[in-house]
Amino acid sequence: MKFLWTVTSCAWAVHAGALRACGTCCTRLQRELGSKVSSPGQPAYNATEDSYWSLQEAGLRPGCILRPSTAQDVARAVSIIGTVDGCNFAIKGQGHAPAAGFANIDGGVTIDMTGLNSTVLNADQSVVSVGAGASWLRVYQYLDPFNVSVAGGRNGLVGVGGLTVGGGISHFSPRVGWACDNVVNFERGAVFQAFTDIVSSPDFDIYTSLVAGFLYNSTSKTWLISNSAVYTRPVLDPPVFAELAAVPSISNSSQLTSLAALADEAATPPLNWLFATATFKPSVEFMQEIFDILNSTFYSFNPEGGVVWDIAFEPLPSVMLSYAAKTGGNILGVQPEDGNSYIMLLSALWPNSASNAAVEKVSRQALAAIEARAKAEGLLRGFQYLNYAAPYQTPLASYGAENLEFLREVRRKYDPLQVFQKRVPGGFKL
Ligand SMILES: Cc1cc2nc3c(=O)[nH]c(=O)nc-3n(C[C@H](O)[C@H](O)[C@H](O)COP(=O)(O)OP(=O)(O)OC[C@H]3O[C@@H](n4cnc5c(N)ncnc54)[C@H](O)[C@@H]3O)c2cc1C
Repeated sequence: MKFLWTVTSCAWAVHAGALRACGTCCTRLQRELGSKVSSPGQPAYNATEDSYWSLQEAGLRPGCILRPSTAQDVARAVSIIGTVDGCNFAIKGQGHAPAAGFANIDGGVTIDMTGLNSTVLNADQSVVSVGAGASWLRVYQYLDPFNVSVAGGRNGLVGVGGLTVGGGISHFSPRVGWACDNVVNFERGAVFQAFTDIVSSPDFDIYTSLVAGFLYNSTSKTWLISNSAVYTRPVLDPPVFAELAAVPSISNSSQLTSLAALADEAATPPLNWLFATATFKPSVEFMQEIFDILNSTFYSFNPEGGVVWDIAFEPLPSVMLSYAAKTGGNILGVQPEDGNSYIMLLSALWPNSASNAAVEKVSRQALAAIEARAKAEGLLRGFQYLNYAAPYQTPLASYGAENLEFLREVRRKYDPLQVFQKRVPGGFKL
């Protein structure tokens, strides 16, 4: 019966091909997303149709309406729609664009985003995460008790999605610009959550080799997430990566391959580079804070020739540290009892050597701000991984006083003249 309703409504489409495509599309969406997809005559369908601001827009009749409740639903729907030729769709926020067809469609599929309306303020009340389908009124009402606000629509019934995509003029705009200028980022928290869930698991899967990477290009002022998730058993799509894989992405390739093939990466072009590092206890909120600090530090810095910032997060699980005890120990000073942690590698790459001092200064500022915040929140581990450390950092001291003293004793015994301390200027000194 549902299917018949769908086909009937699809008769609004102009030709048979479109009619077939719409029916197939709605049927497939219903099969995969169940009751989130409604058909003409159903209460959910009618509720969306009745919610448009203009009569012209409300007068269109989609073949079905999807009301997603997660970003994953949206990603799934778009990938289904993309595989059905002639299946057209519209995206609806709060339905305040008056022109017919902007946020609704005759035949085809309307994706009504209004179920994605969560609103959460961060710990220091500087950033609010808002679902793409929320109304501004909902955001303001949530923020009022905290005595803070954001640059959004002057009429509260207007949608966050539509207003922001178009720019957004707010009462605050003379002070802070367009609403879109005030967006910190779009849907990144899901990666932080997935990474943190993997890192903090007491049963860390020992076949997991993960690097969560965030790249910022100062010229285009854009962020890109690029994760490397390797599983060291021949299993495609292992459960440990399921949450990460569910985050909507531009591309996602998984394959079985050999280590030699995997490690055969293309050489990077000649560039200036820097590394700096720190180690933290897992916390999804703190990963977001790291991102906010990096974003605000990097945003206004664009040296001649540009710079790419590459921030990698790598698990340092207790299980990995437990092997030292079985093989006679090492000098690094990190212990399994410390619990699971992760290492941050902050790197920068840039072509113009005239910018070296400026890039180094900004990287130090960013790292200092991140470390200070982590320390204040009790999330900073003392360990600095030597191979990722900047020349101004002190990885050897981070091994702990006892281990450092042991290394100095070795030096006194085997290098009494301090040849390696004084005649080899590079690297870290005891
Ligand atoms: C009464 C009224 C007051 C207004 N006040 C202001 C104002 O103060 N400042 C201002 O700048 N503008 C204002 N506008 C204009 C308003 O910004 C636009 O009409 C805006 O497009 C409405 O967004 P919406 O989400 O409500 O509308 P919708 O009609 O649902 O969407 C508008 C467009 O945005 C797209 N869209 C919506 N959400 C998403 C999403 N999540 N992802 C991708 N695309 C999406 C839709 O596909 C559609 O093309 C007002 C309009 C009205 C009718």
